[in-house]
Amino acid sequence: MKQSNLFLICFLFISTLLSCSETESGPKVIAHRGYWKTEGSAQNSIRSLELANEINAFGSEFDVHLTSDDVLIVFHDKKIDSLHLQKTPYAELKDIALKNGEKIPTLEQYLDRAKSLKNSKLIFELKSHDDPARELEAAKRSVEMINEKGLTKQTEYIAFSLEAAKELHRLSPETPVYYLNGDLSPKELKELGFTGLDYSYNVMSKNPNWFKEAKDLGLKINVWTVNKPERMKEMIEAGADFITTDEPELLQQVIREYHK
Ligand code: MG
Repeated sequence: MKQSNLFLICFLFISTLLSCSETESGPKVIAHRGYWKTEGSAQNSIRSLELANEINAFGSEFDVHLTSDDVLIVFHDKKIDSLHLQKTPYAELKDIALKNGEKIPTLEQYLDRAKSLKNSKLIFELKSHDDPARELEAAKRSVEMINEKGLTKQTEYIAFSLEAAKELHRLSPETPVYYLNGDLSPKELKELGFTGLDYSYNVMSKNPNWFKEAKDLGLKINVWTVNKPERMKEMIEAGADFITTDEPELLQQVIREYHK
């Protein structure tokens, strides 16, 4: 083999090792409501999911409500103007435009796009529903649709409602479920069978011992919504497994710098 070829092979091998160590050094980046803080995007839009995939975010988070006529839709707030999403039929919501001009996506439309985007996990937040029975119905329909679309392995569930989190875990025991509400200790979450805690920066900075407790119990830790570099560094240092952020490219850069 020519010396120049050998040199090239060594170079490629070393670059591959370096690039792997960059992507595999934690924590992993989750784009909060997709990657929306950029041209042509909007929170919870299909475009924000595409963009999270384009930048190779580990996960793209989104929010799901069940309308009064059983349509799962992707949107954050409970209300749009005077319309309460969970008490309104889909026909009255379907033409409302997001900030980038897209219409509010149904979960089905969103997942149909997700099927060909394999870079980012679907971090599926089932929103709390005012009516507990509707919340259980939303959990059932969500899991059914994820399974039907063949996206079970690409999905992780998160919820503020303990009942919703329990139901998602019951219906899809192999799928990771994280609890968001910040009021249960790692030990309590372990007993419920959850994968880990997905708590706010404020909760985690007030309970620094939860990092070690969670690790000792084999639970994963996700912290939200961390947008400032100092806080990103603090959470990397503390040992977060995942960080959820509105600034996914900035976080990727901070993580790369940290591991240099
Ligand atoms: Mg959310």
